[in-house]
Amino acid sequence: MPYGLPRGAESQHLPLRVQALLAQQRETWPQLRNALADLQNVQTKPHQLGAARWLTQFNPARIVSTSAKVDAATIAARPCFLCADNLPVEEMALAFGDDYAILCNPFPVLPQHLVIAHRQHTPQSIEQHLGALLDVTKALGEEFFTLYNGPRCGASAPDHLHFQACRYDDLPFFAHLAEWEIEPLDEADDYVSYTLPDYPFRVLIAESDDRAALMKWFARATTTLAEVTHVEDEPLINLIAAIDEDCWIVALFARSRHRPACYFAEGDAQLLVSPAALDLGGVAVVPHAEHFARLDARPLQSIISEVTLSDAQFRQWIKTLEQ
Ligand SMILES: [Zn+2]
Repeated sequence: MPYGLPRGAESQHLPLRVQALLAQQRETWPQLRNALADLQNVQTKPHQLGAARWLTQFNPARIVSTSAKVDAATIAARPCFLCADNLPVEEMALAFGDDYAILCNPFPVLPQHLVIAHRQHTPQSIEQHLGALLDVTKALGEEFFTLYNGPRCGASAPDHLHFQACRYDDLPFFAHLAEWEIEPLDEADDYVSYTLPDYPFRVLIAESDDRAALMKWFARATTTLAEVTHVEDEPLINLIAAIDEDCWIVALFARSRHRPACYFAEGDAQLLVSPAALDLGGVAVVPHAEHFARLDARPLQSIISEVTLSDAQFRQWIKTLEQ
Protein backbone atom coordinates (compact mmCIF):
# COMPACT_ATOMS: atom_id res chain seq x y z
CA MET A 1 0.00 0.00 0.00
CA PRO A 2 1.42 3.41 -0.85
CA TYR A 3 2.97 5.11 2.20
CA GLY A 4 2.07 2.06 4.34
CA LEU A 5 -0.65 4.08 6.01
CA PRO A 6 -3.99 2.89 7.31
CA ARG A 7 -7.06 3.56 5.20
CA GLY A 8 -9.88 5.73 6.51
CA ALA A 9 -7.77 7.40 9.17
CA GLU A 10 -9.99 9.67 11.20
CA SER A 11 -9.31 13.36 11.01
CA GLN A 12 -10.06 14.15 14.66
CA HIS A 13 -7.32 15.83 16.64
CA LEU A 14 -5.39 16.40 13.44
CA PRO A 15 -3.75 19.64 14.68
CA LEU A 16 -2.26 17.75 17.64
CA ARG A 17 -1.07 14.90 15.46
CA VAL A 18 0.47 17.38 13.02
CA GLN A 19 2.42 19.00 15.86
CA ALA A 20 3.63 15.53 16.89
CA LEU A 21 4.68 14.77 13.31
CA LEU A 22 6.57 18.07 13.03
CA ALA A 23 8.35 17.42 16.35
CA GLN A 24 9.18 13.83 15.45
CA GLN A 25 10.47 14.77 12.00
CA ARG A 26 12.57 17.65 13.36
CA GLU A 27 14.12 15.16 15.76
CA THR A 28 14.81 12.32 13.35
CA TRP A 29 15.18 13.84 9.87
CA PRO A 30 18.40 15.88 9.60
CA GLN A 31 17.44 17.44 6.26
CA LEU A 32 14.29 18.94 7.77
CA ARG A 33 16.06 19.95 10.97
CA ASN A 34 18.75 21.80 8.99
CA ALA A 35 16.17 23.41 6.71
CA LEU A 36 14.21 24.70 9.70
CA ALA A 37 17.40 26.02 11.32
CA ASP A 38 18.26 27.83 8.07
CA LEU A 39 14.74 29.22 7.89
CA GLN A 40 15.12 30.76 11.35
CA ASN A 41 18.03 32.82 10.05
CA VAL A 42 16.53 33.59 6.69
CA GLN A 43 16.66 37.23 5.62
CA THR A 44 13.35 38.93 4.98
CA LYS A 45 12.51 42.45 3.88
CA PRO A 46 9.17 44.20 4.40
CA HIS A 47 7.59 46.12 1.54
CA GLN A 48 4.53 48.28 1.26
CA LEU A 49 2.43 47.65 -1.86
CA GLY A 50 -0.22 50.33 -1.53
CA ALA A 51 -1.96 49.39 1.70
CA ALA A 52 -0.66 45.82 1.65
CA ARG A 53 2.30 44.56 3.60
CA TRP A 54 4.48 42.14 1.70
CA LEU A 55 7.66 40.29 2.59
CA THR A 56 10.46 39.21 0.33
CA GLN A 57 12.38 36.24 1.64
CA PHE A 58 15.94 35.40 0.61
CA ASN A 59 15.77 31.62 0.64
CA PRO A 60 18.58 29.97 -1.38
CA ALA A 61 17.25 26.46 -0.68
CA ARG A 62 14.16 27.29 -2.73
CA ILE A 63 16.20 27.50 -5.94
CA VAL A 64 15.10 23.89 -6.54
CA SER A 65 11.48 24.93 -6.69
CA THR A 66 11.88 28.42 -8.16
CA SER A 67 13.90 27.20 -11.10
CA ALA A 68 12.10 23.87 -11.45
CA LYS A 69 11.60 22.82 -15.03
CA VAL A 70 8.01 21.72 -15.21
CA ASP A 71 7.76 20.76 -18.86
CA ALA A 72 6.35 17.31 -19.54
CA ALA A 73 9.67 15.77 -20.69
CA THR A 74 11.62 16.94 -17.61
CA ILE A 75 8.84 15.81 -15.28
CA ALA A 76 8.59 12.40 -16.93
CA ALA A 77 12.35 11.86 -16.66
CA ARG A 78 12.75 12.49 -12.93
CA PRO A 79 11.72 10.27 -10.01
CA CYS A 80 8.63 11.86 -8.43
CA PHE A 81 9.56 13.32 -5.04
CA LEU A 82 6.01 12.89 -3.70
CA CYS A 83 5.67 9.18 -4.44
CA ALA A 84 6.05 7.00 -1.36
CA ASP A 85 8.76 4.88 -2.96
CA ASN A 86 11.01 7.89 -3.49
CA LEU A 87 10.75 9.56 -0.08
CA PRO A 88 13.86 9.72 2.12
CA VAL A 89 13.82 6.88 4.66
CA GLU A 90 13.43 9.38 7.52
CA GLU A 91 10.33 10.95 6.05
CA MET A 92 7.13 9.98 7.86
CA ALA A 93 3.52 10.72 7.01
CA LEU A 94 0.15 11.06 8.70
CA ALA A 95 -2.82 9.49 6.97
CA PHE A 96 -5.67 11.77 6.03
CA GLY A 97 -8.75 9.84 4.99
CA ASP A 98 -8.32 7.08 2.44
CA ASP A 99 -6.45 9.03 -0.15
CA TYR A 100 -4.00 11.53 1.32
CA ALA A 101 -0.77 11.60 3.30
CA ILE A 102 0.41 14.62 5.29
CA LEU A 103 4.16 15.24 5.10
CA CYS A 104 6.62 17.89 6.28
CA ASN A 105 8.02 20.02 3.46
CA PRO A 106 11.83 19.66 3.49
CA PHE A 107 12.11 22.99 1.61
CA PRO A 108 9.98 25.15 3.88
CA VAL A 109 9.06 28.76 3.14
CA LEU A 110 7.27 29.09 6.48
CA PRO A 111 8.08 27.26 9.73
CA GLN A 112 5.23 24.72 9.82
CA HIS A 113 5.06 23.92 6.14
CA LEU A 114 3.13 20.78 5.30
CA VAL A 115 2.54 18.96 2.04
CA ILE A 116 -0.67 16.99 1.69
CA ALA A 117 0.02 14.51 -1.09
CA HIS A 118 -2.36 12.11 -2.76
CA ARG A 119 -1.30 8.54 -2.09
CA GLN A 120 -1.39 7.74 -5.78
CA HIS A 121 0.72 9.29 -8.52
CA THR A 122 -2.13 11.21 -10.15
CA PRO A 123 -1.90 14.57 -11.95
CA GLN A 124 -2.23 17.90 -10.15
CA SER A 125 -5.76 19.06 -10.82
CA ILE A 126 -8.36 20.67 -8.60
CA GLU A 127 -11.58 19.88 -10.44
CA GLN A 128 -12.33 16.60 -8.68
CA HIS A 129 -10.44 17.38 -5.51
CA LEU A 130 -11.70 20.65 -4.05
CA GLY A 131 -13.80 18.63 -1.58
CA ALA A 132 -10.64 16.98 -0.22
CA LEU A 133 -8.97 20.37 0.10
CA LEU A 134 -11.97 21.71 2.04
CA ASP A 135 -11.95 18.63 4.27
CA VAL A 136 -8.27 18.87 5.13
CA THR A 137 -8.65 22.62 5.70
CA LYS A 138 -11.39 21.95 8.22
CA ALA A 139 -9.52 19.11 9.90
CA LEU A 140 -6.33 21.18 10.29
CA GLY A 141 -8.41 23.85 12.04
CA GLU A 142 -8.14 27.59 12.39
CA GLU A 143 -4.40 27.67 13.07
CA PHE A 144 -3.63 26.60 9.50
CA PHE A 145 -4.47 27.64 5.99
CA THR A 146 -4.15 25.38 2.97
CA LEU A 147 -3.17 26.08 -0.61
CA TYR A 148 -3.27 24.62 -4.07
CA ASN A 149 -0.95 25.62 -6.91
CA GLY A 150 -2.19 24.80 -10.39
CA PRO A 151 -0.03 22.50 -12.54
CA ARG A 152 0.96 25.39 -14.79
CA CYS A 153 1.41 28.11 -12.19
CA GLY A 154 3.61 27.08 -9.35
CA ALA A 155 3.23 23.37 -8.60
CA SER A 156 6.71 21.87 -8.76
CA ALA A 157 5.16 18.39 -9.04
CA PRO A 158 2.48 18.96 -11.68
CA ASP A 159 2.23 15.19 -12.13
CA HIS A 160 1.40 14.35 -8.51
CA LEU A 161 -1.68 15.81 -6.82
CA HIS A 162 -0.80 17.74 -3.69
CA PHE A 163 -1.84 20.63 -1.49
CA GLN A 164 0.19 22.49 1.10
CA ALA A 165 -0.57 24.00 4.49
CA CYS A 166 1.13 26.57 6.72
CA ARG A 167 0.21 28.55 9.84
CA TYR A 168 -2.60 31.02 9.25
CA ASP A 169 -0.85 33.89 11.02
CA ASP A 170 2.32 33.43 8.96
CA LEU A 171 0.72 34.57 5.70
CA PRO A 172 0.19 38.34 5.41
CA PHE A 173 -2.96 37.75 3.31
CA PHE A 174 -4.74 36.01 6.18
CA ALA A 175 -3.01 37.85 9.01
CA HIS A 176 -4.38 41.18 7.69
CA LEU A 177 -7.54 40.00 5.94
CA ALA A 178 -9.91 41.63 8.43
CA GLU A 179 -8.37 45.05 7.75
CA TRP A 180 -9.43 45.24 4.09
CA GLU A 181 -12.43 46.98 2.63
CA ILE A 182 -14.53 44.46 0.79
CA GLU A 183 -16.55 44.84 -2.38
CA PRO A 184 -19.46 42.37 -2.34
CA LEU A 185 -19.91 40.55 -5.63
CA ASP A 186 -22.50 37.91 -5.26
CA GLU A 187 -24.71 36.75 -2.47
CA ALA A 188 -26.66 33.52 -2.58
CA ASP A 189 -28.50 31.71 0.21
CA ASP A 190 -25.56 29.47 0.80
CA TYR A 191 -22.43 31.58 0.13
CA VAL A 192 -21.12 35.12 -0.20
CA SER A 193 -18.43 36.25 -2.58
CA TYR A 194 -16.44 39.44 -2.69
CA THR A 195 -13.18 41.05 -3.76
CA LEU A 196 -10.74 43.41 -2.04
CA PRO A 197 -10.63 46.61 -4.15
CA ASP A 198 -7.44 47.91 -2.50
CA TYR A 199 -5.46 44.68 -2.63
CA PRO A 200 -2.42 44.71 -5.01
CA PHE A 201 -4.25 42.42 -7.45
CA ARG A 202 -7.79 41.18 -8.01
CA VAL A 203 -8.71 38.30 -5.73
CA LEU A 204 -12.01 36.45 -5.79
CA ILE A 205 -13.11 35.23 -2.38
CA ALA A 206 -16.05 33.09 -1.31
CA GLU A 207 -17.20 32.19 2.17
CA SER A 208 -19.65 29.50 3.18
CA ASP A 209 -20.28 26.81 5.75
CA ASP A 210 -21.90 24.71 3.03
CA ARG A 211 -19.35 22.39 1.42
CA ALA A 212 -21.57 21.51 -1.55
CA ALA A 213 -22.41 25.17 -2.22
CA LEU A 214 -18.74 26.12 -2.24
CA MET A 215 -17.91 23.30 -4.60
CA LYS A 216 -20.68 24.42 -6.94
CA TRP A 217 -19.51 28.03 -6.77
CA PHE A 218 -15.94 26.95 -7.40
CA ALA A 219 -16.82 24.80 -10.40
CA ARG A 220 -18.62 27.76 -11.94
CA ALA A 221 -15.82 30.19 -11.08
CA THR A 222 -13.18 28.01 -12.73
CA THR A 223 -15.31 27.20 -15.78
CA THR A 224 -16.01 30.87 -16.43
CA LEU A 225 -12.38 31.77 -15.78
CA ALA A 226 -11.29 29.23 -18.38
CA GLU A 227 -13.74 30.83 -20.81
CA VAL A 228 -12.61 34.41 -20.32
CA THR A 229 -8.91 33.51 -20.35
CA HIS A 230 -9.33 31.17 -23.34
CA VAL A 231 -7.95 28.10 -21.62
CA GLU A 232 -9.25 24.69 -22.58
CA ASP A 233 -8.47 22.73 -19.44
CA GLU A 234 -7.86 23.95 -15.89
CA PRO A 235 -7.47 27.74 -15.82
CA LEU A 236 -4.30 29.15 -14.27
CA ILE A 237 -5.03 29.46 -10.57
CA ASN A 238 -3.57 29.46 -7.13
CA LEU A 239 -5.97 28.87 -4.32
CA ILE A 240 -5.75 29.46 -0.60
CA ALA A 241 -8.32 28.33 1.95
CA ALA A 242 -8.93 28.60 5.67
CA ILE A 243 -11.66 27.83 8.16
CA ASP A 244 -13.25 30.13 10.73
CA GLU A 245 -15.43 28.13 13.09
CA ASP A 246 -17.43 26.14 10.53
CA CYS A 247 -17.16 28.62 7.70
CA TRP A 248 -14.65 28.13 4.91
CA ILE A 249 -12.98 31.03 3.20
CA VAL A 250 -11.62 30.28 -0.26
CA ALA A 251 -9.54 32.84 -2.17
CA LEU A 252 -8.87 32.35 -5.85
CA PHE A 253 -5.82 34.01 -7.40
CA ALA A 254 -6.54 33.96 -11.12
CA ARG A 255 -3.37 34.06 -13.17
CA SER A 256 -2.53 35.43 -16.57
CA ARG A 257 0.80 33.64 -16.75
CA HIS A 258 3.12 31.43 -14.72
CA ARG A 259 6.38 33.38 -14.66
CA PRO A 260 7.04 37.10 -15.28
CA ALA A 261 9.25 38.28 -18.15
CA CYS A 262 12.04 39.23 -15.70
CA TYR A 263 12.35 35.54 -14.78
CA PHE A 264 13.65 34.84 -18.28
CA ALA A 265 15.68 38.05 -18.68
CA GLU A 266 19.47 38.08 -18.53
CA GLY A 267 22.01 40.06 -16.52
CA ASP A 268 20.78 43.00 -14.49
CA ALA A 269 17.26 42.68 -15.83
CA GLN A 270 16.80 39.20 -14.39
CA LEU A 271 14.81 38.63 -11.22
CA LEU A 272 14.38 34.95 -10.51
CA VAL A 273 10.92 35.01 -8.93
CA SER A 274 8.40 32.32 -9.77
CA PRO A 275 5.13 33.35 -8.13
CA ALA A 276 2.77 30.80 -6.62
CA ALA A 277 0.21 30.96 -3.81
CA LEU A 278 2.59 31.98 -1.01
CA ASP A 279 4.28 34.68 -3.10
CA LEU A 280 0.88 36.14 -3.98
CA GLY A 281 -0.31 35.81 -0.39
CA GLY A 282 2.46 38.11 0.80
CA VAL A 283 5.71 36.10 1.11
CA ALA A 284 7.68 36.39 -2.13
CA VAL A 285 10.56 33.93 -2.23
CA VAL A 286 13.82 34.99 -3.89
CA PRO A 287 16.59 32.39 -4.07
CA HIS A 288 19.41 34.70 -5.31
CA ALA A 289 21.07 37.22 -2.94
CA GLU A 290 21.61 39.82 -5.62
CA HIS A 291 18.02 39.56 -6.87
CA PHE A 292 16.80 39.80 -3.29
CA ALA A 293 18.76 43.04 -2.87
CA ARG A 294 17.23 44.49 -6.05
CA LEU A 295 13.63 43.41 -5.57
CA ASP A 296 11.85 46.32 -3.93
CA ALA A 297 8.20 47.38 -3.95
CA ARG A 298 8.07 48.67 -7.50
CA PRO A 299 9.34 45.59 -9.37
CA LEU A 300 7.45 43.40 -6.91
CA GLN A 301 4.16 45.14 -7.73
CA SER A 302 4.91 44.93 -11.42
CA ILE A 303 5.62 41.18 -11.21
CA ILE A 304 2.37 40.65 -9.31
CA SER A 305 0.39 42.68 -11.85
CA GLU A 306 2.02 40.86 -14.73
CA VAL A 307 1.13 37.35 -13.56
CA THR A 308 -2.42 38.07 -12.36
CA LEU A 309 -5.53 39.24 -14.21
CA SER A 310 -5.91 42.87 -15.22
CA ASP A 311 -8.82 44.72 -13.69
CA ALA A 312 -10.66 44.57 -17.03
CA GLN A 313 -10.19 40.78 -17.30
CA PHE A 314 -11.29 40.34 -13.71
CA ARG A 315 -14.47 42.38 -14.30
CA GLN A 316 -15.23 40.38 -17.40
CA TRP A 317 -14.82 37.17 -15.43
CA ILE A 318 -17.13 38.36 -12.65
CA LYS A 319 -19.70 39.50 -15.17
CA THR A 320 -19.67 36.09 -16.84
CA LEU A 321 -19.78 34.37 -13.47
CA GLU A 322 -22.82 36.32 -12.31
CA GLN A 323 -24.83 35.78 -15.49
ZN1 LIG B 1 4.35 10.82 -7.63
